[in-house]
Amino acid sequence: MSVPSAEDPAPAPIEADVVIVGAGPVGLFQIFELGLLGIQAHIVDSLAHPGGQCTELYPDKPIYDIPAIPVCGAQELIDRLMQQVKPFNATFHLGQEVVELKPTADGRFDLTTSVGKRFAARAVVIAAGVGSFQPRRLAVPGIDALEGRSVHYRVKSAADFHAKDLVICGGGDSALDWTVALCPAARTLTLVHRRAEFRAAPATVAQMRELVAAGRMRFLEGNVVAQRSIGQRLESVDVQTSDGKTTTIAAEQVLVFFGLHPKLGPIADWGLELDKKALKVDTEKFQTNLKGVFAIGDINTYPGKKKLILSGFHEAALAAFAIQHHLNPDKRQFLQYTTTSPIMQKRLGVAGAEAQ
Ligand SMILES: Cc1cc2nc3c(=O)[nH]c(=O)nc-3n(C[C@H](O)[C@H](O)[C@H](O)COP(=O)(O)OP(=O)(O)OC[C@H]3O[C@@H](n4cnc5c(N)ncnc54)[C@H](O)[C@@H]3O)c2cc1C
Repeated sequence: MSVPSAEDPAPAPIEADVVIVGAGPVGLFQIFELGLLGIQAHIVDSLAHPGGQCTELYPDKPIYDIPAIPVCGAQELIDRLMQQVKPFNATFHLGQEVVELKPTADGRFDLTTSVGKRFAARAVVIAAGVGSFQPRRLAVPGIDALEGRSVHYRVKSAADFHAKDLVICGGGDSALDWTVALCPAARTLTLVHRRAEFRAAPATVAQMRELVAAGRMRFLEGNVVAQRSIGQRLESVDVQTSDGKTTTIAAEQVLVFFGLHPKLGPIADWGLELDKKALKVDTEKFQTNLKGVFAIGDINTYPGKKKLILSGFHEAALAAFAIQHHLNPDKRQFLQYTTTSPIMQKRLGVAGAEAQ
């Protein structure tokens, strides 16, 4: 994915009825509720995959309070939601944060993402949960200036690390997977982790240990504490090891996988009324102070709000009706049941199923 440069002409915005910001469980269910009413959505998430907190923070933990499902793994819930929203052909724009939202003179909203994609949306649903997940950064003086050149928090192209002196920091799955994957191609590879224990798949940890035993890479138990660079070119890093010594390692490239943490980020600058980092909404439409901008799930607040998936699902259902009215104010609204509504069944792709 390329980031447009200052010289590129501004890309034409994607025309959308609705843009959903956040593909956590609640944003996903919003696709479903809108789809039942015949409204198609675009959905954006800063993560490379849908699922929000469920996928990022507790994929293997069981959830016991989803109606009619006595127990459901958090990732399983996301997989089921993805299956449920499939008939509605929402367009997913993953791996990009919505950084700007501005009302335009024609009553629509101009949204811009971190990779320069733009939308002209008639309505916006913010389902941003506890904020967008950002990589935890390496806390070393001068490291920020090297970001994107010599210091990276994700791999855009594995080829960038071929034939390089590479340092990988971290002890989870991403750190270990990339260590094993990049070891054959890197000139030298050093894995740095603060402990001798890892939070990664045991088989990958075993592969890493075999590479160390074969002299193909090094593992240092410690922390990167300093860097030496010329301009934006990194030369080496200092690692303070668990025995208190400092070791200097040649490093042209550093990959850091310290996990992600959520940050409210740009949403705070969109002119929306906030109460303790949450967006204030009414409980009829779940609309913010900006007409046409709705907020559902963990990101919103109102008297009695409970940050539960179940509450977010209810909010998505009512917001869908409010959005339908916002898009077509003259259209009469009917409550239809999926059990009996031929039009909803057609939209779900199950029309005629009961006759089989
Ligand atoms: C350990 C744990 C256990 C839990 N157990 C339960 C349980 O048993 N039952 C229950 O009901 N709830 C439980 N919860 C809470 C539940 O996970 C949340 O209520 C739910 O995830 C909220 O969903 P959401 O879609 O509103 O937000 P999230 O899941 O937070 O998803 C929001 C998404 O928005 C994205 N985003 C944010 N800002 C932007 C932006 N500017 N641009 C693009 N993307 C953006 C984020 O990257 C994220 O993917 C638990 C939470 C935790 C941490």
